[in-house]
Amino acid sequence: MDIIDAHNHLGVRPGATQTGADLVAKIDAVGVDKAVIFPFVEGNFTNDPIKEAFDQFPDRLIPYCAVNAWQPDAADEVRRCVRDWGFKGLKLHPTINGFHLSDPNLVDPLFQVAEEYDIPVIVHGATDLLNSPTEFAIMAARFPKVNLLMAHMGFFWGVEQAISFAKQYPNLYLETSRAPIFEIQTAVKELGPHKVIWGTDSPFVDYEWEFKKMERATLDKAGYSEIVGGNIARLLKL
Ligand SMILES: [Zn+2]
Repeated sequence: MDIIDAHNHLGVRPGATQTGADLVAKIDAVGVDKAVIFPFVEGNFTNDPIKEAFDQFPDRLIPYCAVNAWQPDAADEVRRCVRDWGFKGLKLHPTINGFHLSDPNLVDPLFQVAEEYDIPVIVHGATDLLNSPTEFAIMAARFPKVNLLMAHMGFFWGVEQAISFAKQYPNLYLETSRAPIFEIQTAVKELGPHKVIWGTDSPFVDYEWEFKKMERATLDKAGYSEIVGGNIARLLKL
C-alpha cells in the first residue's frame, strides 16, 4: 500500500518556499510514495505552481485546488482545476482568508462543486474562531456526501471536540499535521485508524519527524498503513 502525505504547500511566499522537486526529494529521503500538494494561501495566490509541479511529477504529486472563498470566481476556479487540470481535491484556509467555514454564501458553492466532482475538502482546523471544530460539524452535516478533513485535528484546544464530531459524522476525518503524538494516539483509540489521516504541512515542519511520529500513533500495523496512506487513497479513489 502506498504511503501518502495528505498536506503540503508549494510555491514562494515570504518566509517559505518549496518546489515540486524539493518535496519529491523530501518524500524520497524517508520512503514516502506520494504527496498531496496545494499552494501557500497567504496574499494573492494562484494554482499555477501546483499545475506545473503536477505536470513535472504526475506519479508522485496529487494536486488540490486552493481558493480564497471571498474571490467572486472561487467556485469557477475549483471547477476549472478539477475538470480541466485533473486536480483531486480542494483546500481552504478560513483564518488566513477571513471567512467562517460554515458561511453559506461563501463556502456552500465550493462544497457543491466538491460534491459534484466527488473530491475531498481539506481545511485548516486548528481551533481559530473561523474554523473551530463546530464549523466542521456544521459543514459535515450540511454536506454529508463531501469527505471533509480537519487539518491539525483541532489542535490546540479543540482536539476532544474534533474527536467527538469525527465520531458523529462519517464524512469527517482528522488530519495529523503538527498535532502531538498523545492527541493522535487518543484520536486513533477513540475513532479507530480509518478516521485518522497523516499529513505533514511541509515545508513548515521537520519532514522526517512528522513522518516518524506516526509510528508511535498506533502499535497496530494494519492501522498504521491505513493512517499513512490507505485512508486518503480510498477517499481519492487511487
Ligand atoms: Zn498547511
